[in-house]
Amino acid sequence: MNSVSEIYGSMVFNKRVMRERLPRDTYRELRKTIKEGLPLNSAVADVVANVMKNWAVEKGATHYTHWFQPMTGITAEKHDSFISPMSDGTVIMEFSGKELIKGEPDASSFPSGGLRVTFEARGYTAWDPTSNAFVKDGTLCIPSIFCSYSNEVLDKKTPLLRSMETLDREALRILRLFGNTTAKRVVATVGAEQEYFLIDKDMYNRRKDLFYCGRTLFGAKPPKGQEMEDQYFGAIKPRIAAFMKELDEELWKLGVLAKTKHNETAPAQHELAPFFSSSNIAADHNQLTMETMKKVADRHGLVCLLHEKPFSGVNGSGKHNNWSISTDTWLNLLEPGESPSENAQFLLFLVAVIKAVDEYQDLLRVSVASAGNDHRLGANEAPPAIISLFLGNELTEILEAIEKGLPCGKKEKCELQIGVQGLPSFPKDTTDRNRTSPFAFTGNTFEFRMVGSSASISGANFVINTIVAESLSQFAEELEKAPNLTDALNALIRRTIRDHKRIIFNGNNYAREWVEEAERRGLLNLKSTSEALPCFISDRNIALFTKHRILSKAEIISRYEILIEGYCKILNIEALTMIEMFRKEILPGVCTYMKDLSETALAKKSVLPGICCEAEEALLGKLSLLSGQSYRKNEALEKALLQSRAESDMTAAAKYFTAVVLPAMQELRTAVDEMETLVGEDYWPYPTYGDILFKV
Ligand code: ADP
Ligand code: MG
Repeated sequence: MNSVSEIYGSMVFNKRVMRERLPRDTYRELRKTIKEGLPLNSAVADVVANVMKNWAVEKGATHYTHWFQPMTGITAEKHDSFISPMSDGTVIMEFSGKELIKGEPDASSFPSGGLRVTFEARGYTAWDPTSNAFVKDGTLCIPSIFCSYSNEVLDKKTPLLRSMETLDREALRILRLFGNTTAKRVVATVGAEQEYFLIDKDMYNRRKDLFYCGRTLFGAKPPKGQEMEDQYFGAIKPRIAAFMKELDEELWKLGVLAKTKHNETAPAQHELAPFFSSSNIAADHNQLTMETMKKVADRHGLVCLLHEKPFSGVNGSGKHNNWSISTDTWLNLLEPGESPSENAQFLLFLVAVIKAVDEYQDLLRVSVASAGNDHRLGANEAPPAIISLFLGNELTEILEAIEKGLPCGKKEKCELQIGVQGLPSFPKDTTDRNRTSPFAFTGNTFEFRMVGSSASISGANFVINTIVAESLSQFAEELEKAPNLTDALNALIRRTIRDHKRIIFNGNNYAREWVEEAERRGLLNLKSTSEALPCFISDRNIALFTKHRILSKAEIISRYEILIEGYCKILNIEALTMIEMFRKEILPGVCTYMKDLSETALAKKSVLPGICCEAEEALLGKLSLLSGQSYRKNEALEKALLQSRAESDMTAAAKYFTAVVLPAMQELRTAVDEMETLVGEDYWPYPTYGDILFKV
């Protein structure tokens, strides 16, 4: 094997390759364009395209594609080959600047919500030069954004990029107030830890629920679950280790900084954490990570499940979105500093996040809402559906003292005057980590733990960036006008703590008491996707996104429609899958078992009249009852599903799915799972939870 440093980034058209291969002027021009976000002039683009093509061909590429993130959640590619016919019947490999800069996939094959009706169906992709091109499976991939021809945003990445610009602008205003004249940019950084399950491919193929829905819709609890807690950091099995090794190598080639890997709490569950990077790169890399996980798993006879809750009764999977803000000189703005002034600045950024999370709880909840994640949020394993923020006791005490204008008690003579006078030194590392909090301060980042494992992190991050930018923009507005900065800063920080401290919660988020306490505090508890999503289109949230030019009203509404429709579609597919499994596989299996039981009893009696057939008869009785019961539950589900078609309004339909279809699915499952515990293993049509989770 080549060394890691040789492998790392070997398939990426990165800065080093650009410097080596591009003419010096072109290189300089391109870097400038990337840095300043300017449009690329066509002469430069032609040179870059040609060099990029030659490099890609050396790496084995024959095709190129604009690689983008439509609203479907996965990445999209339309491959075009480099070949261009010559008059003498031969071909040459060609790639122009125009082709590099702009692609034209058929927009009508991607969800666009209401936009498709009102606007042209055609769309275009545009190169996002802030993210490096790379070669994957013989194709040069050009990271791109995706818009309709009339410039409506149709992808997940554009709002993320725009939110980064907004955050940059507003954060710089604050830095200038603190006398920082050197920082040129402020970047939102993200490290997204990815949880996933690995199961055997044969078992996967034998279950329609996994196959169609990515999660099991039936399945009785095995005798052993995760209660022994022997999985986390346990030895990694050889087959899994081989997968992980190859995954690392594949990701390194693509320039993805995969760093840690370990088992997770549930059996067959694992995690991969990357080094952090700017949030747009982190989003691209997370998409590549998910895609590569699936591909590599397949080569090892495994299937990688990215669903948020593949198995009931076993922990689900999420994505811990570690978020912070840094200057272009990698000064982390959420890291307490050495001097009182640095700490005052830290404090201002900290309360900006606190204010943002409190004021836009609904948007944060919307940003992670999906049918899959609903099974996870609020269960006793993942953060609850209630948004709160963990600071740790030490930091909370300091904030309380600041709010009250009290001496902090930690140092004898700290007056807690922000600015020139002494501020307490802040704890640099909160060792009291709280694993139950949805939004936890970890010493220099915030860890947003509600993101679902299959989701694009763009959704959560464009919301976080925007709401924090909004806090900062209000702060800057106030402070820039203030005659005395120190006084204004003091008043502002105190007021912000007072007004938003209700969002801070350091206790156990899984406790029932917290639900009641949160209600007393007036915090939102949006339990399901159908309850959460409508918040997206509230006047207040539309005003926020339009103010910062992240999304227009039409774009927000179209996104809402895509999301709510997607939710209904998923539940519809799940319900149909259950019905099919029940009718075609489960019931026939149970009947065969019952037939064999009765034949056994009959045979016994014909040989030895009067013989006891207690087991056969008892089982037969129970199964008759249960199969009748589940048959009725299945009918009820079919009826519920039929009625869902009567809802003409998508929002109402989504609410109906949550309120009626989902419980009907659960009832059918309960009856079927009970039968599974009674029916002989050879008769049950599916691999059991025990087989799937422990026999990898
Ligand atoms: P834990 O499991 O305790 O959360 P990990 O080391 O698995 O810790 O994950 C921490 C994640 O936080 C990593 O992905 C890391 O890159 C990321 N991270 C660290 N510093 C920053 C930062 N300044 N901005 C964004 N993410 C960060
Ligand atoms: Mg974590």
